[in-house]
Amino acid sequence: MTEVQIEEENKQIAKAYKELLQISYRSLSDDDKKLIRTAFDTAVDAHKEQRRKSGEAYIFHPIAVAKIVASEIGLDATSIAAALLHDVVEDTDYTLNDLERLCGETVAKIVDGLTKISMLDKDEEKPISLQAENYRKLLLTMNDDIRVIIIKIADRLHNMQTMGSMRPDKQVKIASETLYIYAPLAHRIGLYNIKNELEDLGLKYTEPEVFNDIEQKIAETKEEQQEYIQKFSNKIESGLEKEGLHFQIKGRHKSIYSIRKKMVKQNVSFEEVYDKFAIRIIYKSDPANEKLLAWKIYSIVTDYFRPNPLRMRDWISFPKSNGYESLHITVIGPENKWVEVQIRSDRMHEIAEKGYAAHYKYKNTTDKGDHSLDSWLDKLKEALENNETNAVDFVEEFKLNLHAKEIFVFTPKGDIKSLPKGATVLDFSFSIHTEIGARTRGAKINGKLVPLNHELISGDQVEIMTSSTAKPTQHWLNYVTTGRARTKIKASLNEERKLIAQEGKVMLRRKLKTLKIVLNEKTINELVRFCDLKTSQDLFYRVGLGTIDNKTIKDFVASRSNTFVNFFKNKLRKSSSEQAEIDNTEITDQYDLIVFGKEENKLNYKLAQCCNPIAGDSVFGFLTINEGIKIHKHTCPNSLQLQSNFAYRVLSAKWIDSTQIEYKTELRLSGIDNMGLVNEVTKVISNEMHVNIYSLAFNSNSGVFEGKITVGVKNKALLKQLTTKLNKIQGIEKISRV
Ligand code: MN
Repeated sequence: MTEVQIEEENKQIAKAYKELLQISYRSLSDDDKKLIRTAFDTAVDAHKEQRRKSGEAYIFHPIAVAKIVASEIGLDATSIAAALLHDVVEDTDYTLNDLERLCGETVAKIVDGLTKISMLDKDEEKPISLQAENYRKLLLTMNDDIRVIIIKIADRLHNMQTMGSMRPDKQVKIASETLYIYAPLAHRIGLYNIKNELEDLGLKYTEPEVFNDIEQKIAETKEEQQEYIQKFSNKIESGLEKEGLHFQIKGRHKSIYSIRKKMVKQNVSFEEVYDKFAIRIIYKSDPANEKLLAWKIYSIVTDYFRPNPLRMRDWISFPKSNGYESLHITVIGPENKWVEVQIRSDRMHEIAEKGYAAHYKYKNTTDKGDHSLDSWLDKLKEALENNETNAVDFVEEFKLNLHAKEIFVFTPKGDIKSLPKGATVLDFSFSIHTEIGARTRGAKINGKLVPLNHELISGDQVEIMTSSTAKPTQHWLNYVTTGRARTKIKASLNEERKLIAQEGKVMLRRKLKTLKIVLNEKTINELVRFCDLKTSQDLFYRVGLGTIDNKTIKDFVASRSNTFVNFFKNKLRKSSSEQAEIDNTEITDQYDLIVFGKEENKLNYKLAQCCNPIAGDSVFGFLTINEGIKIHKHTCPNSLQLQSNFAYRVLSAKWIDSTQIEYKTELRLSGIDNMGLVNEVTKVISNEMHVNIYSLAFNSNSGVFEGKITVGVKNKALLKQLTTKLNKIQGIEKISRV
């Protein structure tokens, strides 16, 4: 870059920073401004050598994220500072200690949380341990400081807004993840504007044609709508003005994503989505008169337009559990078209767009101040933990995780491990590796030494210290909660028991020898019964430990001459539960064929039942654990979840016209020659199965024949059917594929 360019860029950076400050300038104290300035200077210095994919200086990204945080969410100076610094520790030489020194503990803690999360983003080398599902749960369980999640959402929003210069496959992955994790999370937190934008951007990259199509149609109908709103306004404006109301009448479009959702769900075209457009009347009011004015407006609107009594929603008397307030009515508007009218005050409007963040703002003006941010954050946390059913689509999912039975902790390298709630250091250690578990000497959590039975919480970074002399003891069984650790500890204790038992056996043989008794199976069995034990191993172990002493052995020898000992033999019955092999391939030639990948490989597959794809659908293959490849439609309700969580198991797939292709296979037949066999064989192949025969050769020798047939089949399933049928022909002993 030339000097002029550098100077120009510095000017742009200064400008962006100024804009950031202006957003919340009035509410910032001098200390706040100082903190933000320090954060900004630090970020500028830290990122000075870095550029984004698009070529612009990296610092523009943290500034943009801080802007989103300040304007869309309205968080405090701490959050703005943390947003400015969110990539510093991850990407530059600055450490957490530096940030703590410069900007204080809270900022450093938030950045730490963000760093941990973003290390998970770099998952290209470790796709399995870092599945989106875990990741999502992590976000939810790590809400120690919920500002971490909010800033992360802002970060994701800006990344989505600037994803243009990325590789297409990365775009799809990030967009799927956004739709699967971040949009619902934003919704749950009540950041409705951000949620809509994330969804629209998500659709733009996952289904570009669909997105463009709807976007274009909205643009085409825009003028028409403007006129319609005008007609509507003209009719009622004077009525509203007569009442001295201050108001705005606006049209508002459903987001592209929600239109798309409705089209798919109700199986209708764009034109048929009747409520893609609504009219909003937003009025000014002091808090005391809000409700009254809403109904006054209702009354005026329905004077001019007839309402549908079945389609009225009073969210003012009964706000939604997420805080949404508004009065919705559907009326027969101009041109006799049904149109939804939403009536709400300025305050209600802001809450509808920004959710709890706006609550916080309104609280702020009435409360004395400083605690309101905390109370808002508490409220958010509550909302995340709230298990009441409410209007949020994804509530079911979240409910599951908030009473999480799982925690998520990090290895020193930043890998994530999931463990059941209540798991201890020792559980973690065994979850990494049995050897490491068995050699555990101590552990550090977030750098501090803790005992082995220390209970872990989500977000802990656990470092295990081992020693070659450490080994499990009986006590360890009280230190663990996971089945895995328990089993391993027991196994290891057993191992030790075996060693003692071995020694015990040698000792017992020696002792009996001095009493003139031979240690054989009979003696062992008698001794086991005499000591009231179950196994010979128990016996040897106790001798080895010394709990069965010389006196006991002498008593045994004395009793032996008088007692008649019965022997019992246990027969072990082995039940072999081999399952009959089930033939799952039921594809017949009435289906067309799906091929996979660029090579158009022919693999076995099944059609998913959730979306029942039919020939010609746009589909993909998903490698299941038990049932091979399943074919889903791209529009399948599970598609996003699968593609985002298990991208590495997704295979590209397409339908082809299978009549165009056949593959040749050579079959070898052998058996006992009889009259008409060849005739039988060809009849089955051509007449019954309609399979082409390319070549046929039979050799008969002293009553035994061998045949080679080359056939053309469309798929493996057909080939299998063919061989089954051929096998039934009398005389045929063996068929094999070459
Ligand atoms: Mn970032």
